[in-house]
Amino acid sequence: MTDRQFNEDKLVIATHNSGKMREIKVLFAGFDFTIISGTDLGLSEPDETENSFIGNAVLKARTAALASGTAALADDSGLSVIALNGAPGIYSARWAGPNRDFNVAITAVKEALSKAQSGDMRAEFICALALVWPDGHAVSVEGKVQGILTFPARGTLGFGYDPIFQPYGHDISFGEMDPNDKHAISHRADAFAKLISRCFTSKK
Ligand code: IMP
Repeated sequence: MTDRQFNEDKLVIATHNSGKMREIKVLFAGFDFTIISGTDLGLSEPDETENSFIGNAVLKARTAALASGTAALADDSGLSVIALNGAPGIYSARWAGPNRDFNVAITAVKEALSKAQSGDMRAEFICALALVWPDGHAVSVEGKVQGILTFPARGTLGFGYDPIFQPYGHDISFGEMDPNDKHAISHRADAFAKLISRCFTSKK
């Protein structure tokens, strides 16, 4: 996928996840285009049928770009636990059940780890971002942050698995971390830096 400069005045964010939306808005603060959420446009999200973060991000962004006629950005992300061979991985949202209850997902990770009995608490958050134009051109990148899982869950900031993830070099979980500090080191920030260097030049 060759790079292309983003020179549009609008960008659709193809997500219905308010936590992701909040973080993406902060990461794009200072850029000179309007951000519109897929939810506000009434766009429906496709089933995530691909078998990789990048594949699902491209699928979601392409669906939104074709439906809206506007360039669209999608994030597909999740928690990958080493002792669980990468699970929950691309199924991170599904582990929270139909009500997207992350207490359920966190309990499921804890139980799977205790069954695995390896004692290895290493994990990483992975974020794939895809930017797709209405003509179908796509640019995609992947970012990561590594750390360890920590139980019990700690902190009420952030979202999803943040309360059980402690990034290397810190003694607090993402759930306890000031959002600005998370944004400086997160998988999403890493992916954004890569996407910005490939597609975005002009700042306000
Ligand atoms: P999807 O990308 O919509 O399939 O959902 C990914 C899931 O991974 C989210 O619902 C979150 O549970 C989890 N996730 C992704 N990024 C983060 C993060 O920054 N913190 C905590 N959980 C995350």
